[in-house]
Amino acid sequence: MGRAGSAVAAPERREATPPGYERLDAEVPVLYAPRLAGKAGELSGYLAQGYRTLGRILSVEPPGIIAYLMADEDWGEAPRDNANPYPPGLPYFTRSVEPPALVLPGDLSPVFRPRTAATLPLTVWHELAHAFLLGREVVRTPSWLGELVPQAASAAVARRSGLPLEEHLSRIEREPGFTLRGFRGPAGAGDQMSFQNLLLLLGAAALEEFGEGFLQNIFHDLWEEDEIVDGERAEELLGDALGQGGREWLVSRPEF
Ligand SMILES: [Zn+2]
Repeated sequence: MGRAGSAVAAPERREATPPGYERLDAEVPVLYAPRLAGKAGELSGYLAQGYRTLGRILSVEPPGIIAYLMADEDWGEAPRDNANPYPPGLPYFTRSVEPPALVLPGDLSPVFRPRTAATLPLTVWHELAHAFLLGREVVRTPSWLGELVPQAASAAVARRSGLPLEEHLSRIEREPGFTLRGFRGPAGAGDQMSFQNLLLLLGAAALEEFGEGFLQNIFHDLWEEDEIVDGERAEELLGDALGQGGREWLVSRPEF
């Protein structure tokens, strides 16, 4: 798990521009299929906003990354960690290329809901937050903590950007039939989305109650942790990162 640009990068781990793709230069450059030029501009704006805002909220040097905006027909050519392509329409972050990359589809999969003006930017900022977190070595954590961190971070960027976050949150199903700690993967796409939405609700509620400071705390805690984080330790880390009364607040939350 070398850092971006470390000497251990194998020769094949290099930026690989798909044939015919163009490049939009910015803090996070976007490689895009020419017919998606309009979308590339829109995403570039969200990327710039998220990149700067997360750097400020977390007080860290942003990681060197790039984004691929893939046309549907090229999805199978996108950089990825596994041999087989991932399901179409699902954005992801991969360190299989250098610099590490956000892979974004031309159209989000229909599993993303609710669909509001906030859906796409939140999704981009979620992946961007993964990129920030994975800019340093991170141990394994329960999936609720590993995904809460990017969900809360994306909500924090949305709050600063004046996106209609409240409207988005109000359209989330609050009782999908499981809690965050009770959620067990692998699950279908619908349940995965419900899980992510519960995390977004919890993240937004935590921001409301404790402010943004806990994000910086939890990122740094996770970077410093050197043993696999189990469920109990995860609750402890998050509760303490929230601050005074954090642990009690956390266990009092219905979705938790
Ligand atoms: Zn994620």
